[in-house]
Amino acid sequence: MTQMPDTTLLQAERSDCGEVDEADVLQPLLDPAISSLVFDSQGTLLKLVGQYGSPLNIVWPDMLRRNVEAFRTVLNRHNVRSEIYYGAKVNKSLGLVRVAVEAAVGVDVSSIYEMRDALRAGIEPARLCATGPAKTRVFHAALIANGALIAVDSVEEFNDLDALVREIGLDRPTRVLLRYRPATCATSRFGMGADDLLACLRRLTGLKDRFLFEGFHFHLGGYGHESRVQAVRELARFVVAARDMGLAPTILDIGGGLPVQYIESEAYGAFLRAQHSSDYRNGKVPASFYPYGGPVGACEWLDRFLQAPCADGLSVARYLNAMQLTLAIEPGRSLADQAAISVFRITRVKSLAADQVVIFAEGSSFSACETWFASEYLVDPILVPAQVDSEDDGQPVRAWIAGHSCLDEDVITNRLIHFQRRPKAGDLLVYANTAGYQMDMLENEFHRHPMPRRISVVYDAAGGMQISPDDRMEYRNDFE
Ligand SMILES: *Cc1c(COP(=O)(O)O)cnc(C)c1O
Repeated sequence: MTQMPDTTLLQAERSDCGEVDEADVLQPLLDPAISSLVFDSQGTLLKLVGQYGSPLNIVWPDMLRRNVEAFRTVLNRHNVRSEIYYGAKVNKSLGLVRVAVEAAVGVDVSSIYEMRDALRAGIEPARLCATGPAKTRVFHAALIANGALIAVDSVEEFNDLDALVREIGLDRPTRVLLRYRPATCATSRFGMGADDLLACLRRLTGLKDRFLFEGFHFHLGGYGHESRVQAVRELARFVVAARDMGLAPTILDIGGGLPVQYIESEAYGAFLRAQHSSDYRNGKVPASFYPYGGPVGACEWLDRFLQAPCADGLSVARYLNAMQLTLAIEPGRSLADQAAISVFRITRVKSLAADQVVIFAEGSSFSACETWFASEYLVDPILVPAQVDSEDDGQPVRAWIAGHSCLDEDVITNRLIHFQRRPKAGDLLVYANTAGYQMDMLENEFHRHPMPRRISVVYDAAGGMQISPDDRMEYRNDFE
């Protein structure tokens, strides 16, 4: 499989913990730079949490640059024309958007606010792409003014956009893609089926002064490359139909959904096979999980996608080239792979029953939010003790992890996590790889707790770590 350049992910260190079954342990894959901060002997992480508060989100923007390079390596190997758009909704970090812009990738924006962040980061406006399904008139107007690429989700959106384009009366055409709804997702609210797609194409043939039709878009749920290949096969006839009508599609945009590996895949498989309702404090194994330890990472996924048979005996890559199409991808989660961790300080450790312990974290499940989707973040938090104990003062314990709110549902981890010794107030719990939809998607100021801080780590030429705020807070939490 394709490795990220110059780094190999490590399994988080863990000294042997005797009686714990290996199948109960989900050690996160960690980039070495992150690992060295988490396990450093200077207590840097404790100091940072002391300074910025808990929970603390720490972002490594350079990881995104590295992920971009790794994708480009795969795309270049297949010799396809390509465009990468960073799906900016995955994380609120401005640092990540900035690095995307510096790496000369486009940004997929779903709101005027995401668009503004990308513009502030200095994006060339033509590299903006907007795929969201419910764009407002104001957002449309801003996209039109910037010459952004707009993925039209429906006939209704096309009507609105057309009316607005007429009203504004620009002297250059507005760039559009049409969002396709593949046959397998007939009930989805996103995109257009064959009839609507053809109707839009026919209309576009008469509107060439106002619209520049650039191609097709889709974005699917699920994480298999096969469903994307199938969607490309379905779109092939619309590419031909569009060209027969005198339109000139040049882009096939397959959206995001490239998978991230959080856990080594064998360990993950062993865990899934062995897990049991008694591994959860509520006695319930969630019905579904993100594939945290899937068989392939994003680069291998992209490679398989490009190699897969597409049409007339051609692979996807060859089909794209034969048809002179540019492949666009909009990775969110996979571009943010390894780009952040979330650190919670432990407030209290409480015994509930002989063998059940709950850890109260200073922070809430809104900052590690998988339980709000009736699922679970299947990655063990890493315990960083506040003090290195001289004597062995604790028995191994299984504990679940609750947030600091009074909501019964505010549980960060329902799963009973094995700790080699009972954690203590002041210790830290580090959740690895939270940049993708975990750390800040649901964050809020419930109980009037201030928003969690976000800081970013960069390294100078000498390898020295530089830390700076990466959020909109102007001042520190003065309760600290
Ligand atoms: C969310 C989204 C993406 C990014 O998806 P990931 O799974 O994070 O890669 C890309 N395109 C569209 C249209 C989206 O809605």
